[in-house]
Amino acid sequence: REFASNRVWWSRELEELLGFNQGGFPGTTEAFRDLVHHDDRAAVAGAVEQAVADGCDYLVEFRVRHADGDWRWMEGRGRATYAAGGEPLMLYGLGIDITGRKHAESILLQHESRLRQLNAQLSEADRRKDEFLATLAHELRNPLAPMRNVAEVLRLKKLDDDPQLRWSRDVLERQLEHLSHLVDDLLDVSRITQGKLEPRMQPLELAAAIHDAIESAKPLIDEFAHELTLQLPQEPVVLNADPVRIIQVVLNLLNNAAKYTPRGGRIFLCAERIGDEAVITVRDSGIGIPEQHLSHIFDMFSQLSPALDRSQGGLGIGLALVRGMVELHGGSVSASSPGVGEGSTFEIRLPLAATQQIPHPLRGAQESAPMSAASIRRVLVVDDNEDAAESLAMLLSLQDHVVRTANDGMSALAIAADFAPDVVLLDIGLPHLNGYEVARRIRQARWGSGVLLLAISGWGQEQDKKTAADAGFDGHLTKPIDPVALISLLAAHRQPHSSAAG
Ligand code: ADP
Repeated sequence: REFASNRVWWSRELEELLGFNQGGFPGTTEAFRDLVHHDDRAAVAGAVEQAVADGCDYLVEFRVRHADGDWRWMEGRGRATYAAGGEPLMLYGLGIDITGRKHAESILLQHESRLRQLNAQLSEADRRKDEFLATLAHELRNPLAPMRNVAEVLRLKKLDDDPQLRWSRDVLERQLEHLSHLVDDLLDVSRITQGKLEPRMQPLELAAAIHDAIESAKPLIDEFAHELTLQLPQEPVVLNADPVRIIQVVLNLLNNAAKYTPRGGRIFLCAERIGDEAVITVRDSGIGIPEQHLSHIFDMFSQLSPALDRSQGGLGIGLALVRGMVELHGGSVSASSPGVGEGSTFEIRLPLAATQQIPHPLRGAQESAPMSAASIRRVLVVDDNEDAAESLAMLLSLQDHVVRTANDGMSALAIAADFAPDVVLLDIGLPHLNGYEVARRIRQARWGSGVLLLAISGWGQEQDKKTAADAGFDGHLTKPIDPVALISLLAAHRQPHSSAAG
């Protein structure tokens, strides 16, 4: 383009590109501008003006109308020449058809945005699944509580003279225990994914934890007639860890070794100190793990064969729990296998405690104190799940306690004022008046200061316990409460002097 005359010359190739006959392009700046897409005109003019003013190249992408009426994408680049005085003389430029590239780019963009959309949908679905799992596990515990109470009632009722009843009770107990385990695992795994699992760290002697795990795994190992070899460190190895969780981790690995090894196999468990780590290895002579599965075996719900093919299958969360728990302790876990049918090895590495001082053995489980007249309590059980309240009441009555029940906060207060309990077992989620509020009002009552107030709730986190303590509770039990533990807790509790004033 010549600045002085405003004339524009096109090459033959450019005319062909845009469908003009030779010399068919009118040759003015306006004619060119009219061919450019309305939305791109300002960008083209701006880029050219800027380049002319700065004395540098312009580069601009724009749409231009082909003679057939279609829009083509064009990349324009060029620069001006100047007179000695600095005024621009000519603008030389080049037009390249980039329609194909633009088309490809827009398809790519569409794919990207679709991918982003799918990704967002996936993480939303994943979040809902996590929430669903948490709710499911939580809700499943509610019916489990009264069932466990009833099973305990049946046990206390001494059905020994009727073999069929006794057998039925044993089946009920075993299956309930199995179900409770599944539900507990589900709860744990959902807590881990939501970052809500709080390990209770304390000095822990590794060998002691291993022994506890073996004790729990023994029935399954014996059932399969496996041979277990144990190798423990010469010197005590002390971890700073949550004993319950470490035992659970080793137990899961031992149970898997037992489950995934054909009858009469070998299991080798080794715990040792290597440098500043404790290393626990569980090796079996079982079915092994194909190499391509090793990398995701610790993912949640990963199972190598469909559940229906397996007699011993679980939910596919055992190893996810193992990894989650170990990582919460600052450790790592890995799996290896030489191949199918060649056995598997799982290795756990955990950091050692800063000081290798051997901890005092944990206080043994509370001895179940014999009941005497002095240990009989007046107990008020408050739960809006009537079966839970009644079954717990029946269980405690069988222990000679004097028990009343209430199913909501207001009636709990009314009954308590009249009944003057020594102990109140108080569910937190109650209609009308929640458990915290009931606790506060009991503490304010004249008779209420010396009552043993125990909160029973589905949430066992530190914050929940603190809220309970602030409301005046003496203790906090997480659902489902273990009836046996509760019985010994009541037996251990001394009757407060203040209740005499009631
Ligand atoms: P589950 O045992 O409930 O299926 P896990 O998370 O404990 O779930 O294990 C996941 C899968 O890993 C199992 O289904 C099994 O296929 C495989 N697996 C676990 N441990 C072993 C083992 N010791 N040998 C072979 N395969 C195993």
